[in-house]
Amino acid sequence: MMKANNLTRNILIALVAGAVAGMALTFAPESFFGPLDRYVLDPVGQIFINLIMMLVVPLVFVSIVLGTAGLGEPAKLGRIGVFTITFFLTTTAIAISIGLALAYLVKPGRTGIFETSNLGDFTPSEAPPIMETLVSIIPANPIAAMSAGEMLQIIAFAVFIGVALAYLNEKTKGIFNLFEQANDILGWLVMLVMRFAPYGAFALIASAIGGAGLDAVDSMLSYMLTVIAGLLLHALLIYSLAIWFLGRRNPITFYKGFFPAMTVAFSTASSNATLPVSLKAAQENLGVKKEISSFVQPLGATINMDGTAIMQAVATVFIAQVYDLPLTMVDLLMVVLVATLASVGTAGVPGVGLIMLAMVLNQVGLPVEGIALIIGIDRILDMLRTSLNISGDAACAYILSEREKRRENKQVKG
Ligand code: ASP
Repeated sequence: MMKANNLTRNILIALVAGAVAGMALTFAPESFFGPLDRYVLDPVGQIFINLIMMLVVPLVFVSIVLGTAGLGEPAKLGRIGVFTITFFLTTTAIAISIGLALAYLVKPGRTGIFETSNLGDFTPSEAPPIMETLVSIIPANPIAAMSAGEMLQIIAFAVFIGVALAYLNEKTKGIFNLFEQANDILGWLVMLVMRFAPYGAFALIASAIGGAGLDAVDSMLSYMLTVIAGLLLHALLIYSLAIWFLGRRNPITFYKGFFPAMTVAFSTASSNATLPVSLKAAQENLGVKKEISSFVQPLGATINMDGTAIMQAVATVFIAQVYDLPLTMVDLLMVVLVATLASVGTAGVPGVGLIMLAMVLNQVGLPVEGIALIIGIDRILDMLRTSLNISGDAACAYILSEREKRRENKQVKG
């Protein structure tokens, strides 16, 4: 089996080669790029994504069951659960504030730059109402939830099973072992599928860049740079501070160990699809305790999306600026609230962040058609924000694991 380092190197080479090929393809006529994309790049990319998605539902289920069962006593589960949810919500609210502040500073959507009269061609799909999402977290039919890939529901069911396993302990040892063996099988399959990652990454990025075209990128440069600045700031400042002060660890160690997963998130633009690799990177490279990583990261891949939140904040202000519609202070607070909920409700798959943006725009009375302006270049930003999304989950798991280790040491000494 290929070594992890070689794999990351190969994915990076594939990403650079794919980006160069994609840029070259923007000069090719549509009659060349169209069929190439349809019959080669897109299918190869899709096969890669399908291969990993195939493992996601069983992996989330098995890993949350094991994580919850491993956490054992309710007090520990409660402590970890409360820390995780607080960390997720706080960092998301900070992410949105960074996005809003940067967008006001840079003013990427200064009026007059964009033609808004011919934007009729985007029909947004309906974003689900918040209450419905909350109530439906408890699945009436767990099997249906699995077949539909409803992550929050799968997680809820898995937590119940995990708690039962922890309580019944010796009585259910057989089933517990079965879950552990299923986990081994899935881990092995992840390694196998990842051998295909460089090809998938090449195809995905060549298709994304070739499809967006340089003109689109050019006119949207200041919006893109604002989002990218927000993502960098959040990663370098907020996560680093959290890792430093809450986890008492060096953030550089964190990013070094987690980098392989970030490259996969960048290629796939899907937190869910990256989950198998993020779990592996956290547990093996960063030494995150298995039960913590298996509980925190799948949950984070589903509800914690700081990168998406930053994009939504910048996009909201951007669209308000393009249409010359001022936002009041109350509107801005509304954006923080709704975008936090929107990022909780965003599934960890490509492009959903943009659909959930409709919910935020609606809330503050901005024209949803404005999304048409940013849709062309969203894939590239999606790749970047997904890397940040999963880093937030891993940072939380890393911090928690270090805190738990210190706690245990203290108990042993005391
Ligand atoms: N692609 C993102 C993710 O999977 C979600 C989004 O922003 O569209 O994390």
